[in-house]
Amino acid sequence: MELLPDHGECTFCGACAEACPEPVFEASAGMAHVMEITTDCFVQAGIACMSCRDSCPNAAITMQPQIGAPFLPRLDAAACTGCGACAASCPADAIRAVEREVENA
Ligand code: SF4
Ligand code: SF4
Repeated sequence: MELLPDHGECTFCGACAEACPEPVFEASAGMAHVMEITTDCFVQAGIACMSCRDSCPNAAITMQPQIGAPFLPRLDAAACTGCGACAASCPADAIRAVEREVENA
């Protein structure tokens, strides 16, 4: 299975699990990835942008003030569901999926 944010973010409706004949979806497992903002972000080039912050349904992206530069997006991996809405909205194609780190108890 592949998540293609350009085709719309995951809303966690569960339709994929219902449609799949194989027992590969675990309802409680969640996404195996979170998103990461790369250095391709427009802010790195001094261009103001907040599209990812505005598109996140979980407030996982905040904008950090900088002196003499546009606000810098910060992504909280703990709050990110991996839905992909931020990646779909990014005009710089600067947000990618990375493997979610699993904390050992
Ligand atoms: S993948 Fe979804 S939850 Fe995670 S930062 Fe992007 S919009 Fe927010
Ligand atoms: S949407 Fe993309 S370019 Fe805009 S602030 Fe977020 S990561 Fe940077």
